[in-house]
Amino acid sequence: MNTSKKSVNNDPDVVLIGAGIMSATLGMMLKELQPDLTIEIFERLDVVTAESSDAWNNAGTGHSAFCELNYTPQKPDGSVEINKAIKIAESFELSREFWAYLVEKNIVTSPQDFIVNTPHMSFVWGNDNVDYLKKRYQALTKNHLFKGMLYSEDPAEIGEWAPLITEGRDPNEKIAATRMDIGTDVNFGELTRRIFNYLKGLPGVSLSLNHEVRDIDRQRDGRWKIEVKNRKGGKKRDLLTPFVFIGAGGGSLHLLEKSGIKEGKGFGGFPVSGQWLVCTDPAIIERHQAKVYGKAAVGSPPMSVPHLDTRVIDGKKALLFGPYAGFSTKFLKNGSYLDLPKSIKLNNIGPMMAAGIQNIPLTKYLIDQVRQSPEDRLNALKDYMPSARLEDWKLEVAGQRVQVIKKDPKKGGILEFGTEVVSAADGSIAALLGASPGASTSVAIMLDLLKRCFAEKSNSEAWQNKLQEMIPSYGKSLAKDAALLEKSRDRTARALGLNGVEV
Ligand SMILES: Cc1cc2nc3c(=O)[nH]c(=O)nc-3n(C[C@H](O)[C@H](O)[C@H](O)COP(=O)(O)OP(=O)(O)OC[C@H]3O[C@@H](n4cnc5c(N)ncnc54)[C@H](O)[C@@H]3O)c2cc1C
Repeated sequence: MNTSKKSVNNDPDVVLIGAGIMSATLGMMLKELQPDLTIEIFERLDVVTAESSDAWNNAGTGHSAFCELNYTPQKPDGSVEINKAIKIAESFELSREFWAYLVEKNIVTSPQDFIVNTPHMSFVWGNDNVDYLKKRYQALTKNHLFKGMLYSEDPAEIGEWAPLITEGRDPNEKIAATRMDIGTDVNFGELTRRIFNYLKGLPGVSLSLNHEVRDIDRQRDGRWKIEVKNRKGGKKRDLLTPFVFIGAGGGSLHLLEKSGIKEGKGFGGFPVSGQWLVCTDPAIIERHQAKVYGKAAVGSPPMSVPHLDTRVIDGKKALLFGPYAGFSTKFLKNGSYLDLPKSIKLNNIGPMMAAGIQNIPLTKYLIDQVRQSPEDRLNALKDYMPSARLEDWKLEVAGQRVQVIKKDPKKGGILEFGTEVVSAADGSIAALLGASPGASTSVAIMLDLLKRCFAEKSNSEAWQNKLQEMIPSYGKSLAKDAALLEKSRDRTARALGLNGVEV
């Protein structure tokens, strides 16, 4: 895709920085809510969605907390905490509702190109882990969001679900698995490209590729001056806007710092890079049809939970294992090694040092991961596929995640693994920091942002009606209302071409 800037508006209503799934979602919602809005979108690369939102840079899991064990920690009394899992499962349903709306309106077509059913499985071994998984299953299935989840300790049954994980395994090893058939694999890159293709054709919207936002400055009248540089021609351009969304992924922290808003003080970033093993043997790829998530190794960050994952990318089935975490000072895959040092400022050096000291085991873990030999990586894979051979897999680089470091009154600074919207009190600017659960919850994140930054309009009858049309369960609780969930899943399954489930 070449630059698609079709008009120059130096005074737009909205500036979106970065062309990943977050800006796409916000831009799409805003244009549906208020079609006369003018929006300028800037992307520093020569294509949209080439960083984290691209299919090969993330795991494509429609995070619904069906299989991810890090969303259901075990409490000291041995019981399993499920509040976070419920929140994430509900958030994913909101994404399904919005995507179904886009399909029903013909805004995006052929949903099978970006979302397909892929069973979500959790898989563990060892008595303690089996005990934990059983408790997790019992706790989750009390809520209708998780109805349909299956549990098994029988190697033969687990082998039917996913033969690669049982073949060659010690028959005396205690194993257990859960399975949710309505789990999904999502090509977030394809979805994002389709949304931008539609958006850039709308009146009042302009998308400029190869354009990097270099500076953001508050003006006396409350608006923001945005300085943009054309990375191809070198030309600079200034714009004035009443609202900016910094959806620059790993580049967001740097721009938040430039804005100087007091709400952004004290934030830092801790970059974690990733790699996958990608299977090269079509016969092996064909034999696996699930996303199999395990337990993170002790001391490892939650987002490095290993998984053996069926993917469907550009209509082709693939098999990934990973991610293997690593450390790089870059904040973007296409970023600079100076990203981390340049992000350190007087206002965040304290929280960053405090978080660094508390997370020495994490740093050590990342260094160990970087130093892994191919045989070490194979051994990790063999935990999930005992018959794996190195020659059937190749190593690929995944996207870069920047975990949030923030001030903490007690500890000085803490490292967080979620996402965080940071916005100015007047709602004129917002930035999205962090990585997980990420793209799957983009719709819930943007609904929250609309409430904060467009508070008055969000409460208007016109916006409320449109929000209900786009996301029918908006403002209601899918976790508490089984009938509403059934209706929602039925509708979204039909629109997106997915399996239904009896709730
Ligand atoms: C290894 C890995 C696995 C993941 N797995 C999953 C998963 O299974 N499921 C899931 O839901 N999520 C997953 N995620 C998270 C998900 O990918 C991200 O949350 C999501 O893609 C972030 O979207 P974004 O739009 O904020 O950022 P991005 O997609 O990174 O887009 C930001 C854009 O901003 C541009 N940009 C940066 N600086 C500037 C600037 N100054 N001017 C102009 N443009 C700029 C960048 O070039 C980029 O195109 C994963 C992430 C990683 C790295």
